[in-house]
Amino acid sequence: MERIAYAQQRNQLTRHATLALARSHSHGEAIPFTSLGPILIASPHPDDETLGCGGLIARCAMLGSSITVLAMTNGEASHPGDRAWQEKLGDIRKNEQYSALKALGLAEPDVVSLGLPDGGLERLGKEQCELIEARIWEVMQARGIRTVFVPAVDDCHSDHRMTARLLAAVALKRPVDHFFSYQIWPPEERSPWVVASEDEYLNDIADLVNLKRDALYQHRSQLNAIDPAHSEGFKMPEALLEAKLKNQESFARIRDIAEWSQ
Ligand SMILES: [Zn+2]
Repeated sequence: MERIAYAQQRNQLTRHATLALARSHSHGEAIPFTSLGPILIASPHPDDETLGCGGLIARCAMLGSSITVLAMTNGEASHPGDRAWQEKLGDIRKNEQYSALKALGLAEPDVVSLGLPDGGLERLGKEQCELIEARIWEVMQARGIRTVFVPAVDDCHSDHRMTARLLAAVALKRPVDHFFSYQIWPPEERSPWVVASEDEYLNDIADLVNLKRDALYQHRSQLNAIDPAHSEGFKMPEALLEAKLKNQESFARIRDIAEWSQ
């Protein structure tokens, strides 16, 4: 009896200590969470980090890994309004992001905000992109980043795709141990060269779902708990919330970053 209890406990610990390879893939092996840090999570809009990586952040925070969130934009375009309102909304969303990260267990969240235009990443010129890449390189270098998480390069939102490309460009110059993507708005059809470069990993978060829900609810503006004069904007669809509050988070580990981000 004792032996069974011990085996169960050990399985539980092992299951929770690694990022497991999805069974459908033959490449690679399970990755211990403790080997991931320091971690950088690139988030195009405040809430993407919680939706895509909330369970992972909570698990790694528990294990004491260092986590930095790279906030590409302040998400000021989610609800329309004049310039003053957009600035206010950007501040609101930055605060929401900070609160969500605290709810996930980071005592003093390390958030680097680039303040890029929400909805405008794909319109950035070549020179601007080079400056942004240099800044990201600095952030990664200063923190000794070993693992990067970015949105999927074929996500439906252009800011998400561009975030993936900018980080891929940096990782090609400054290699990391692991480069993962997370999916927020999946495309109808996935590009074959993207899929060919990915191995799917699963993060069992059954014990962390409630924590992730609490963190998601910190993004109040995205749940329409906002100034009624501006309530005509974005509201997180129920289907997205439901999909992101399942017992597993899915990530793709990228084997060939150049091929994947072409
Ligand atoms: Zn987003």
